[in-house]
Amino acid sequence: MSPTDRTLQERHDVVVIGGGPAGLSAAVTLGRALRSVVVLDAGQPRNAPAQGVHGFLACEGISPAALLDAGRADAESYGAEFVRAEAVRVQRVAEGFAVVLADGRGVVGRRLLLATGLADGLPAIPGLREQWGVGVVHCPYCHGYEIRGQHIGVLGTGPMSIHQTLLFRQWSEHVTLFLNDTVAPTDEEWDTLAARSIRVVDGAVASVDQADGVLTGVTVRDGTTFGLDALAVGTRMEARGDLLAPLGLAPQDHPSGMGHSIVPGPMGSTAVPGVYVAGNVSNLSAQVVVAAAEGTMAGAAINADLVAEETAWALDGYRGPFSASSESGVSERVLGVRRHGLDDGQVTGASAPSDSTRREEVRSVG
Ligand SMILES: Cc1cc2nc3c(=O)[nH]c(=O)nc-3n(C[C@H](O)[C@H](O)[C@H](O)COP(=O)(O)OP(=O)(O)OC[C@H]3O[C@@H](n4cnc5c(N)ncnc54)[C@H](O)[C@@H]3O)c2cc1C
Repeated sequence: MSPTDRTLQERHDVVVIGGGPAGLSAAVTLGRALRSVVVLDAGQPRNAPAQGVHGFLACEGISPAALLDAGRADAESYGAEFVRAEAVRVQRVAEGFAVVLADGRGVVGRRLLLATGLADGLPAIPGLREQWGVGVVHCPYCHGYEIRGQHIGVLGTGPMSIHQTLLFRQWSEHVTLFLNDTVAPTDEEWDTLAARSIRVVDGAVASVDQADGVLTGVTVRDGTTFGLDALAVGTRMEARGDLLAPLGLAPQDHPSGMGHSIVPGPMGSTAVPGVYVAGNVSNLSAQVVVAAAEGTMAGAAINADLVAEETAWALDGYRGPFSASSESGVSERVLGVRRHGLDDGQVTGASAPSDSTRREEVRSVG
């Protein structure tokens, strides 16, 4: 049996679906809490096309792949197990949650964390997808510094495009908004754009142009070409949350219109007990550091949840009619010092500890 098959056959405290910054941070927290945790990951992190990760303290500029390699090593050093696989189905079972993989194998965990991120829906303009994450960018905080002072175009895609244009203006005086037959500024917005010296181009964008893999500009439908160093687009952000549908959880539309996500409760909890979410699947705006922080919080919440369950089990056992402590109490009351295993002489003047004395001992040790 391969090590992966062995991992999958074991029952785990937690199954994490998604091995990006959110899932791996949860795995580190859970591993350090001495929990058995398996991370299932399809290996397609959202920022894969980007050259470097920016804004993640102490790792500035690290490549997305190197960050995840280091995160996996951290998680594995605390016993977390990692399986490269796509989860295709989740269902509730007596022990918790069963997750079925694309190849038909499965794994069971007492708790489930979904950290599958989101998919960026890109406008269907020829040439745009090829430049995604390189010359075509979306987030000023991820890419703005690298394109500061350059000629930046903003592709009109929806209600947030003017906001996005005004943000990119912080990084450059040379910003052009392409209305793309999608954005219709109000009088107030025309004034605002003019006040910030933002050029506005009417008409649909027909292509995103490049030479030798480098973005050179865009061409609008009438054939006019505009030279650019970078093009910003607002993507439609769709949480990869469909796996939770059989459990009764579905992504909800974001009020801004920028996409949909699973709405989380405190510390990544959800309306379904035992199911948690972290990162972009439940927070469309989360950058890497935020996704990682949410994973850490969800990991802590899951551990607390498991501790509560195990404490309840212990208490049931402690108080139950056939528990060892209960049997010993009954025996003490019925047989006193004649009960099995005790010698009369040894207990004279030193009665065996009652339940309440034992409780005090436990407290003083704790
Ligand atoms: C081009 C680009 C550049 C960016 N640059 C930056 C930047 O510089 N700084 C920054 O802070 N943020 C940046 N971001 C944002 C960053 O990508 C996200 O903040 C981060 O990826 C969120 O982490 P996550 O763990 O939620 O999701 P992800 O990183 O997307 O990880 C999710 C993981 O789950 C896996 N998965 C999904 N479905 C399944 C399934 N069914 N079964 C198994 N595994 C599954 C995926 O394959 C993936 O590996 C950038 C985004 C883009 C698009």
